[in-house]
Amino acid sequence: MARADTAATSALPSLDRLLHLPQLATLIAAHGRSRVTQLLRTQLQALRERVADGKLSTQQLERALDGTALSSALDDAIAIDARRDLRPLFNLTGTILHTNLGRALLPAAAVHAVTQAMTSPVDLEFDLAHGRRGERDARVRALVCELTGAEAATVVNNNAAAVLLLLNTLANRREVVVSRGELVEIGGAFRIPDVMRSAGAKLVEVGTTNRTHPSDYADAIGARTALLMEVHASNYAITGFTAKVATTQLAEIARAHGVPLAVDLGSGSLCDLATFGLPHEPTVQDTLAAGADLVAFSGDKLLGGPQAGIIAGRADLIARINRNPLKRALRMDKMGLAALEAVLALYREPELLAQRLPTLQALTRSGDDIHAQAQRLLEPLRHALSAEYTIEVATLDSQIGSGAQPQARLASAGLRVIATKRGGLDRLGKRLRALPRPVLGRVADDALWLDLRCLDVEDEAAFLVQWSTLAP
Ligand SMILES: *Cc1c(COP(=O)(O)O)cnc(C)c1O
Repeated sequence: MARADTAATSALPSLDRLLHLPQLATLIAAHGRSRVTQLLRTQLQALRERVADGKLSTQQLERALDGTALSSALDDAIAIDARRDLRPLFNLTGTILHTNLGRALLPAAAVHAVTQAMTSPVDLEFDLAHGRRGERDARVRALVCELTGAEAATVVNNNAAAVLLLLNTLANRREVVVSRGELVEIGGAFRIPDVMRSAGAKLVEVGTTNRTHPSDYADAIGARTALLMEVHASNYAITGFTAKVATTQLAEIARAHGVPLAVDLGSGSLCDLATFGLPHEPTVQDTLAAGADLVAFSGDKLLGGPQAGIIAGRADLIARINRNPLKRALRMDKMGLAALEAVLALYREPELLAQRLPTLQALTRSGDDIHAQAQRLLEPLRHALSAEYTIEVATLDSQIGSGAQPQARLASAGLRVIATKRGGLDRLGKRLRALPRPVLGRVADDALWLDLRCLDVEDEAAFLVQWSTLAP
């Protein structure tokens, strides 16, 4: 046997000869010679190893080296590689702005604007009216000012960058006063104390975790104080015996001492969510009106736009921020700017926002509507599940996500799947994640919960077709 294997290995044809097989011509035309050569090399290496391990007879090897068999093996390899691309999936987790799933989905107007910016030259840094070089984010800055009433604004890559840039510009080697109740960590290693350090600012903590008073801030202000800062608690809530200084009061203290007040608003909504029947979130306008000198917020959280960090506020401070060389390093790309401009423009017509902005659409979807969808899906979904599982319609609570109103729950509905056999839920979860368009739910209390709030009615058919492939 060993001798035969050695013979088989040495009998492997040359790469060059295989590349000339007529069955590979189509693959080469479709993917190019270098890609096919590389895949073929990997394939040959795998065959060589299996022969050496005695797992492949001479006959089997011959069959594997046949032009048709090789072509189909390479086809499979290409399909597997393609699966590693960023993939669309069904977010049935019940968290609308899911950071791990890409947060806000963009409206059609933004997609169109991005496509144009990607496929055609655009007046990114060109002033068409005067025929000379223009400011890269001038249009977006003007829109932010128009919508928020801010004197000036600037934009960078994300809100973490906005906070870093703001601190580095205004508080490098100086002190920033922050309440101990606001030293937040956002997922993905954004921690206020660490950002301060990276920006070169010295954090001065005041108050306690649950209570901070006006005098705590006032007493901490000294010759080295550059800034008072308020940070939106985002992903947690302090309840019970608590005290927090309101933004208006904080602004008064800052003004009395001649230091600016900066607010990291996190999600930063541009419209009062309460008008849509949602929990109230402080808006950028309100925060500026309360006296904040600068407000920083994200583009892809409640705003419903692309990844971006926006700073709005006093013109003299924004001018200093724009002169910081870090601004250039943290600037937005043209695709992001095109999308942000298109999304901001929708805010000019607020009555139509809930129809046009996917984030708001998902947030405002009624519990009854989602419940009806769950009823509609129940039988087809049950049909494809083996007897090992039971499935029923359930009342659920969706979360906004991305640090907006962590305690708020939106009445939702969906399906609850229970497994009768041990490990059944894990197996089902794994199969759902392995579907061509993976399905993500939430596992809790020995059940798999599929919240349908984010299942677009237009996607329902595609979802069902996929689910039917689970059938035993
Ligand atoms: C989300 C958040 C950030 C980070 O914003 P990104 O846009 O994710 O960079 C910073 N501060 C607060 C309070 C946040 O909620």
